[in-house]
Amino acid sequence: MKHIAAAAGIAALSLICMPLMPSTGIPALLGEAHAAGYPDRQITMIVPFAAGGPTDTVARLVAESMSKTLGQQIVVENVGGAGGTLGAGRVAKAEADGYTVLMHHIGMATSATLYRKLSYDTLKDFDYVGLVTDVPMTIVSRKDMEAKDLKGLIDYAKANKDKVTVANAGIGAASHLCGMLFMSAIQTPLVTVPYKGTGPAMTDLLGGQVDIMCDQTTNTTKQIQGGTIKAYAVTSAARLDVLKDLPTVTEAGYPAMSVGIWHGVYAPKGTPAEALDKLTGALQVALKDKNVAARFAELGTKPSPDADATPAALKAKLEGEIARWKPVIEGAGQYAD
Ligand code: ASP
Repeated sequence: MKHIAAAAGIAALSLICMPLMPSTGIPALLGEAHAAGYPDRQITMIVPFAAGGPTDTVARLVAESMSKTLGQQIVVENVGGAGGTLGAGRVAKAEADGYTVLMHHIGMATSATLYRKLSYDTLKDFDYVGLVTDVPMTIVSRKDMEAKDLKGLIDYAKANKDKVTVANAGIGAASHLCGMLFMSAIQTPLVTVPYKGTGPAMTDLLGGQVDIMCDQTTNTTKQIQGGTIKAYAVTSAARLDVLKDLPTVTEAGYPAMSVGIWHGVYAPKGTPAEALDKLTGALQVALKDKNVAARFAELGTKPSPDADATPAALKAKLEGEIARWKPVIEGAGQYAD
């Protein structure tokens, strides 16, 4: 545990017109920020990790579909570093006008405890659009690792604990959390190598510059299928259709490594209700888009249902997950700062 160390607008409100917000069912209040004609220009979706990684992949698929619904381009911008907290901080400080949003994952919750000095308040500085997907992790290694299964990998890691390296996307990343669960389960701290995202980390894993990684299936599935890396287990409760031969961590004897990497879309606090409502509506359309669902399935995940792709569901998830991981992180007593 030592190493706890991603069309046309709604009319402006007026005294004559007080529309119901479809996703909330409550009347928009007079006096709050307006978003007449939203969106009338390009929207930026910040991904707090490097391009080409698993969070980026999810964001680009969803953003492409949402762009069609909104009638304006959503451009993905990668702001990697500090386990996702730099990108989240950028969105927290952005203008709350509906033109900057954040695609982040479980790291939004864990970083709230891992970092005692964040440049933002996780629970106060964001509005919510909705949950997107819950992606399993896979424990993988460079292709020429001699281990044949998870037990073999653990034996190897324990025997070589000073030279084995574990890649992650920085403290607060999903790969960091999963790596932490791995090291905790095997009671052996290992050397970690932080990247700005697991896209670049994968490049080094493929090149054999790092040994082990725990990463979302949205980054590893194609590589595992292509035999370019070795895989040992998946962190979901059941095996995945696209990686049928891969045992779950529970089957492999390590149920404590089970974890799901939920993703959500956020906006800066104070974003007009009309804009949030349109974003949620477009997210729900994207998650029912056949192309998005098909690509998600190929990558070992599935879109969140409408009931979860709502501001209330994301808020509840974030709050619940902060509470869930706080004691784990505090128990380990290791922080990023
Ligand atoms: N998979 C990374 C993580 O560990 C982030 C990324 O590069 O998308 O959180």
